Amino acid sequence: SGNDPRLPLKLLIAAPRGFCAGVDRAIEIVERALQKYGAPVYVRHEIVHNRYVVDSLKAKGAIFVEELDEVPDDAPVVFSAHGVPKSVPAEAERRKLLYVDATCPLVSKVHRQAERQIEKGQHILFIGHEGHPEVIGTMGQVPDGRITLVESVEDVATLPFTQDDDLSFLTQTTLSVDDTREIVEALQAKYPKIVAPKAEDICYATSNRQAAVKDIASGCDLVLVIGAPNSSNSLRLVEVAQRMGTDARLIQRASEIEPEWLEGVGTLGLTAGASAPEKLVREVVDRLSDWRVVTEEIITTTEENMIFKLPRQLMD
Ligand code: SF4
Repeated sequence: SGNDPRLPLKLLIAAPRGFCAGVDRAIEIVERALQKYGAPVYVRHEIVHNRYVVDSLKAKGAIFVEELDEVPDDAPVVFSAHGVPKSVPAEAERRKLLYVDATCPLVSKVHRQAERQIEKGQHILFIGHEGHPEVIGTMGQVPDGRITLVESVEDVATLPFTQDDDLSFLTQTTLSVDDTREIVEALQAKYPKIVAPKAEDICYATSNRQAAVKDIASGCDLVLVIGAPNSSNSLRLVEVAQRMGTDARLIQRASEIEPEWLEGVGTLGLTAGASAPEKLVREVVDRLSDWRVVTEEIITTTEENMIFKLPRQLMD
């Protein structure tokens, strides 16, 4: 009302944000596996890096484990969207487990490129973040010693290869578009003959979400990114906003927002990583509305209409 004593807060909501086609598909795979095979369905690693999603699936009968040896012989198991090393389906087959692979098709595409580059006799320089499950999965597509992780421009300087070595590079799908460009430029400067991937490995969802947050950040006093601390693409969104000179924070749920954060904030940017459900965005808007008179504006930089097919074993 006109007499509302609360201060106005303008929200700029980035679009696209939140779920990508690979996350949608991975969650649907677990849900359909539960319907088809009945609970419990085991899931190796968080199906996507979001606690809300994981807890919702747990409530429906999914059991999350880190390694295959925690899965009983007679239970179905789903592999997460991030992908797995070749040794994982090999072990599942050895044990005759019923498994469903929820690896995002865009991650599988990188896996196949890695295989092809090895067949051509190239050594792969893989740009990614050490320890991330996607990196473990992609590096596990090729024999040991044929792929080297590169995390930064500084890493490029210390690589032991010569200009005559047969080299190629690939990248994780959820990297910073800007950082990756710099690392690739450093690789190409040091190794002019290095073979690039056929198409960009950073996925459409990652680059679209980074472009969308970049578009709103400079007009905001604060940007909130909804996502998990182990979600690579969410962390990159925080960095993109910060590099625009705007204060930015990662939050998992609305309850983490402190009222002090809003002091002096007239315009607040909001986005969500590819594994964060839209429900959590609405939850944040509702919490902000408790303190301020909120107006919402959606700033769309791209329309997305990507859909990935489900594995045949779950299509009915
Ligand atoms: Fe696939 Fe990209 Fe989504 Fe990862 S972020 S699941 S690579 S579409």
